[in-house]
Amino acid sequence: AKELGRNNLQVFTEEMADKAHEKLLKQAELRQAIAGQEFLLHFQPQVNIESGRVFAAEALLRWRHPERGMISPGDFIPLAEETGLIVPIGDWVLRAACRQCKAWHEAGLPLLIVSVNVSARQFRERNWAAHVAAVLAETGLEPRFLELELTESLIMQDVPGALATMHELKAIGVHLAIDDFGTGYSSLSALKRFPVRRLKIDRSFVEDIPGDVDDRAITAAIISLAQNLGLRVIAEGVETQAQVEFLRHSGCDEIQGYFFSRPLASADFEALLRQPGLN
Ligand code: C2E
Ligand code: CA
Ligand code: CA
Ligand code: CA
Repeated sequence: AKELGRNNLQVFTEEMADKAHEKLLKQAELRQAIAGQEFLLHFQPQVNIESGRVFAAEALLRWRHPERGMISPGDFIPLAEETGLIVPIGDWVLRAACRQCKAWHEAGLPLLIVSVNVSARQFRERNWAAHVAAVLAETGLEPRFLELELTESLIMQDVPGALATMHELKAIGVHLAIDDFGTGYSSLSALKRFPVRRLKIDRSFVEDIPGDVDDRAITAAIISLAQNLGLRVIAEGVETQAQVEFLRHSGCDEIQGYFFSRPLASADFEALLRQPGLN
């Protein structure tokens, strides 16, 4: 038994060493990705449910790895957050998204909003709102064309701190949305005080509509909550006609998801914008 214990311990530490080693490798790769310009953005349309008009593009980060090909954010953002590398990466995203949006405006395409995901580490950087203002000035994008997506959990980690930064951002003229809404624990009274324009209903509710009674009820409740607070509401992860029908019926203004379009490379997004009748 003693021997077995020792063997187990040995296996355990070897595994831990392997994990630590793998993590260091990945961290080095992430640094290389920043330096080597291996990141790019895809854009997913946000659409008005009634008119079908595309009014915004959510910027979604992609990593084109020289050997492993295209990597999704779910596979590297957790490590980027843990190591703090999300700060320079997120900064690149913000700048690239603003620059692309401005280029579309200058090309005479419909005046879209670009929405950008913000991580907690980034949001808590000192003077972050001033930094956002500087990026807008540098890229020439008017603040009202930028929307920042903050998750409910980011806000709830430090409500007073988040509120202060949110008000600074609002003063600049940038819009705010609460992403993954319904998955966190924001109290309704707190929600009323957040200077946000839009709620994004989390995909985990939308995906089981119309089959799941609870998810139907939650989705409908979020929509009516948003309406009562004078907020816009968008459902994400919309894949089917049945989901669209339920959402329309429940009074949801806007949708995003594979039903309308997957996230697209910028050239493909631009081609979509040029399709007659869409905007
Ligand atoms: P998110 O902000 O909730 O983004 C929506 C995710 O759902 C995207 O995954 C999108 O491709 C996917 N999606 C959109 N429509 C559908 C649909 O109809 N069905 C299904 N099954 N999925 C759909 P993606 O691009 O893999 O991004 C995953 C997450 O990574 C994002 O979730 C966001 O939290 C994070 N992320 C992406 N880009 C950035 C970034 O630039 N900065 C930060 N901090 N996080 C990012
Ligand atoms: Ca998002
Ligand atoms: Ca989301
Ligand atoms: Ca669900």
